[in-house]
Amino acid sequence: MSKMRKGCDLCGSFSESVVNERMFRNQMLRWRKFNVCSLIFQDAESYADAKEFMQSNEYLESTCRGYADYLSISSEHCRRRQSFRLVEKIARYCGLPSKAMEIGAATGTFVKALRENGVDCTGMDFSPVLVKAAKEMNGVDIVNNDFMDAALPTEAYDAVFLFGTVGTVSSIKMLMEKIVRILKPSGLFVFNYMNYNHFSRKLLGKRYHRQTISSRYRLTGTTISRYLDAAGMRLLYDEPDYKWTTVGSLAGYLRSNLVAKIIAVLHIQWIPLMVPVPGGRIVFSQKALHSRNKCYCG
Ligand SMILES: [Zn+2]
Repeated sequence: MSKMRKGCDLCGSFSESVVNERMFRNQMLRWRKFNVCSLIFQDAESYADAKEFMQSNEYLESTCRGYADYLSISSEHCRRRQSFRLVEKIARYCGLPSKAMEIGAATGTFVKALRENGVDCTGMDFSPVLVKAAKEMNGVDIVNNDFMDAALPTEAYDAVFLFGTVGTVSSIKMLMEKIVRILKPSGLFVFNYMNYNHFSRKLLGKRYHRQTISSRYRLTGTTISRYLDAAGMRLLYDEPDYKWTTVGSLAGYLRSNLVAKIIAVLHIQWIPLMVPVPGGRIVFSQKALHSRNKCYCG
């Protein structure tokens, strides 16, 4: 049975070409580039498979050494530094919100950092493992739900945050529409993404993006600003993203056995360091006071 292919959710075009193919768990994954807007999208058979994969140890192995490493004290310490830095940045750029929501809150580190600064922040994550970890590691209650399925009040939040997962959602268009709905007028939406046009993609090759079922979108500055514009959001700042990591996680990412051995001998796996995310961008955007529906048909 042939499957009806969807047009591009950004420009509506059906004109596309396959730019990347890969076998993954006995399934051929295809990333297609829509020729009008340059959006690259993987229309996988089932989003349930992607969600299941994102809760696996295998998923985390592409950025660290699996759950054991991700839930380690040293990784949590890095996320804490990361969270404090981000809270400070938000305070400086836009002022801290009163009521906020973090989508994909993971171990709840950022939610905790916001709460410590007086923000009434709700965290949500679809992974029961991470929700449990958030409670155990940070004493933070995270709502165990998929943001897209959750019943949420309209115009209730001053800010929405989403880190590390915008390219993995089932539909960025629907995600942004929902975020705009729950945000108060002039509300803030802060997220990060990997820029597909960045030169480091050519250097890092297959390590730049996960070549898996969870990696649905390949985004650029242009496609991100078009999505924001279509949803009725105004881009405030778009700047390079930095990340706190450990020497051990960085070595895992580089996949060098020699480097890993040297680090193990020296026992320096836990040392934290701040590195620029190759091609990583962090975006501050704001719900426009009067959102408009823009037509991209001409
Ligand atoms: Zn398009």
